[in-house]
Amino acid sequence: MKVEIGKLKLEKQNMLTLNQAQEQVDNWIKKHGVRYFSELTNMAILTEEVGEVARIMSRKYGEQSSKKSDTCDLEEELADVLFVLICIANQTGVDLTSAFRKNLEKKTKRDKTRHKQNKKLK
Ligand SMILES: [Mg+2]
Repeated sequence: MKVEIGKLKLEKQNMLTLNQAQEQVDNWIKKHGVRYFSELTNMAILTEEVGEVARIMSRKYGEQSSKKSDTCDLEEELADVLFVLICIANQTGVDLTSAFRKNLEKKTKRDKTRHKQNKKLK
């Protein structure tokens, strides 16, 4: 069964929960990473990876032109961001499923009419 999410069409059986992703990252760290980098090192890496996403976005969707040396793999860079974000969640004890649910509830309460009333979005 396929599910449409934005521009994606995904096979439902291939979907990964946030808890499963947190477990897979932890297993990878234990098997290949020796240990987690410190929280501050991972924060610096997260910033670096977000910068790589920004570089691609500025070239692909913005006015910035590409250099010959540029790589433009948005999928890879978003996955790099996700990986290190999950590392930070794991090492600081954040359950991303619970945190994400709470975040959506907060946004819904706070913004349920805000965006619909935004004339710039029409
Ligand atoms: Mg990267």
